[in-house]
Amino acid sequence: MKVFEKASAKINLSLDVLRKREDGYHEVEMVMTMVDLADRIEMQELPRDTIIISSQAGYIPLDEKNLAFQAARLIKDRYDVKRGVYIHLDKRIPVAAGLAGGSTDAAATLRGLNKLWQLGISNDELKLLGQELGSDVPFCVTGGTAIARGRGEKLEMIDSPPQCWVVLAKPPINVSTSEIYGKVSVKEIEKHPNTSQVVQAIREKNFDHLCSHLGNVLEDVTMRLHPEVKQLKEVMVKLGADGALMSGSGPTVFGLVSKESKVARIYNGLRGFCKEVYAVRLLT
Ligand code: ATP
Repeated sequence: MKVFEKASAKINLSLDVLRKREDGYHEVEMVMTMVDLADRIEMQELPRDTIIISSQAGYIPLDEKNLAFQAARLIKDRYDVKRGVYIHLDKRIPVAAGLAGGSTDAAATLRGLNKLWQLGISNDELKLLGQELGSDVPFCVTGGTAIARGRGEKLEMIDSPPQCWVVLAKPPINVSTSEIYGKVSVKEIEKHPNTSQVVQAIREKNFDHLCSHLGNVLEDVTMRLHPEVKQLKEVMVKLGADGALMSGSGPTVFGLVSKESKVARIYNGLRGFCKEVYAVRLLT
C-alpha cells in the first residue's frame, strides 16, 4: 500500500520575540500561513521493519537527521508499529530557507503514516507528537492560518488572509535558525510588529492594512549578517510588491501582490538577483 501527502511551505506574516525563557528557547508570537509551494511525499509499506528515506535533492540528510525519518521513528516507537516504510521526498521547497521545509515534511510524514498504518490518531495527538520534533511541526500538521505562541507550538487558528499572489525569493546563502535566535537581544529590538493589527487586517480581509503591518524582528539580525537580504527586500518593493517581509529566520523574502498583472514583472526582476524565485498563491 502507498500513501501520498503534500507538504506545504509556511510563511510568517509577523514574527515577534517576546522574551528569552529559562529553558533557553525564545517566547514568540507569530502569525503563520501556508503557501502553495509544496514537497511531495510518498510513503510505501515495506516487508521489513525498517525506515528508508530517499530524495531527488542531493543536499538533505537521508539518515536519522532527516525530520521525516525522525517522524516515522517517533510514530513507530509511540504506537509500537513493527512495520517498515519507504519514504520518498520530492523536495520543491528550498532548504534552510525560513519556509519550514523540514518541519512540514515531518508533519506530512506523521499524517501519512497515520493513514498507511491505520492508527486512528487524532490531529490533536499528531500535533503533540509533532512538538517533540520541532516548534513549527504542530502548525504544519493542519496548516491553515494561526497565531503561534510559546515556542511556536501553542496555536490559535484564525481566518485565512485575503487571497493574493506570493512571490518568494531565496538568495544563495545559508542561514541557521539557531544562530539567528542566538543573536537576538530582546532589549535591543527597536520595533515589535503589531500582531493584533495583523490579525485584524486578516479578519477584515483588508489587504492594504495587512501589507502595512507585516513585521519580523529577526530581519534586523539576519540582514546585519547578510546585507543582500535587505537589498532583496528593497528590490521586491521597488519592483511593485504591495508588501514584503523576510520569512522566519530567512533568508527567503516574500512579497504579497494583489494584481496578477504585476507578478511576472516582479518574478522576472528578481530572477536577476537569485535563481530560486517562485510565484505562488496563498493556501486559503
Ligand atoms: P524553519 O523555517 O523551520 O527554521 P528552514 O526552512 O529554515 O526551517 P529546513 O528547510 O527545515 O529549514 O532545513 C533546516 C535543516 O534541516 C537543513 O540543514 C537540512 O539539512 C535539515 N533537514 C532535515 N530534514 C529535512 C527535510 N526533510 N527537508 C529539508 N531539510 C531537512
